[in-house]
Amino acid sequence: MGSLCARAALRGSLCGAGAPGPCLLPRHSSGGPSQTQERTLVAVKPDGVQRRLVGDVIRRFERRGFKLVGMKMLQAPESVLAQHYQDLRREPFYPGLVSYMSSGPVVAMVWQGHNVVRTSRAMIGDTDSAAAAPGTIRGDFSIHISRSGNVIHASDSVEGAQREIRLWFQSGELVDWTDGDHHASIPPA
Ligand code: UDP
Ligand code: MG
Repeated sequence: MGSLCARAALRGSLCGAGAPGPCLLPRHSSGGPSQTQERTLVAVKPDGVQRRLVGDVIRRFERRGFKLVGMKMLQAPESVLAQHYQDLRREPFYPGLVSYMSSGPVVAMVWQGHNVVRTSRAMIGDTDSAAAAPGTIRGDFSIHISRSGNVIHASDSVEGAQREIRLWFQSGELVDWTDGDHHASIPPA
């Protein structure tokens, strides 16, 4: 364990002096973030904020055991939305999408944890509310894919998440915190 820790520490993992326990964080050979440190961008869209769904969204991610490492409410600038949805700019629904995303504040969050990108996509449900399974965020709350909004955004790949987190957050706005003794008090799901 000691040599594993030392090797990981050399690569800059969480096995430094401040690490609370044994070094168990595997690293990809690519040198990218470990699965345990995987992060994703989640944003409650304007309809979700206006329908008072922010607390419900946070509760679902916390109960799933993910760690909140960044959060802010903002009126999304059009330049950010243009970059965020750059792959969709030729879609017929793009102008409506930008105006919907500009129709009120959004709550942007960065969540961290094992496979958080894939899991959060499952948690939010299908883009089309008609196809979103009951129990998912969109399946429970979304009425229409675009007309009245689909409540929430979550990155759809690890690379996309890294790009989106850099777009929405300054590095100083993300907090790298460690679980202390209170961790055990997370209520059972
Ligand atoms: N969207 C839309 N009409 C469509 C497809 C997408 O208005 O036919 C909007 C919708 O708000 C969706 C967003 O564009 O969430 C981004 O689309 P994407 O395909 O990336 O879906 P998501 O990743 O949000 O599930
Ligand atoms: Mg998408």
